Amino acid sequence: MGTEAQLAAVATEVRGCIRCPLAKGRTLAVPGEGNPQTDVLCVGEGPGGREDATGRPFVGPAGQLLAELLRSIGWERGDVFITNVVKCRPPGNRDPEPSEIGACSGYLDRQEQALDPAVVVTLGRHSLQRYLPGARIGEVHGTLRRSGGRYIFPMYHPAAALHQSSLRETLFRDIRGLPAALLTARAAIESERASVVEAAPPEGTATSPTSPAASRGESDQQMTLFL
Ligand code: URA
Ligand code: SF4
Repeated sequence: MGTEAQLAAVATEVRGCIRCPLAKGRTLAVPGEGNPQTDVLCVGEGPGGREDATGRPFVGPAGQLLAELLRSIGWERGDVFITNVVKCRPPGNRDPEPSEIGACSGYLDRQEQALDPAVVVTLGRHSLQRYLPGARIGEVHGTLRRSGGRYIFPMYHPAAALHQSSLRETLFRDIRGLPAALLTARAAIESERASVVEAAPPEGTATSPTSPAASRGESDQQMTLFL
């Protein structure tokens, strides 16, 4: 199955899911959306009111800010993939329970496998916890981290900046580092792959002395979000 078909299969299952109590309170489940070719997966907490009403992630006030943040580095919403750790709205927008996050995690696992992103941008605490358990947002925000075989770029949740205006500046400052973090993550992933090939060259494969990552400088103006 290709990436799009895998994502569509997850979305169909999510829309009919009754694995946790959040199913009862939802209007629409919110599987996530974006470009299936993207190298950047953004993971928030859970749907709010507007998301629940429309079935789309980050379309309310926090979503407006997320779109602004992406635009500030020349990206569009549709260039990335956006989803949440829970796909159904917690009543009254309360925090999702660990048991609900656990029940829902298989869907995010599969979205991640399908997209195989170079970088996962975590938005907020719950998403950060999934990828970097025990990490403190105040210490790791805006930096590239490696965990569980993935590169993680933690950010504050855009909704937090709606209540606390000093975070707005922090978010804009942090996201400015994302394009370079993406290049760094890609180069690291490519050189890891190249060294695996060097260690055990498949029969009939010529190994090149320089990895493709070596020729891609940070100044590459042709950076694409897609591979
Ligand atoms: N906040 C989130 O964490 N996710 C959304 O989809 C919308 C708001
Ligand atoms: Fe299913 Fe996740 Fe919705 Fe719970 S939050 S009902 S696990 S899709």
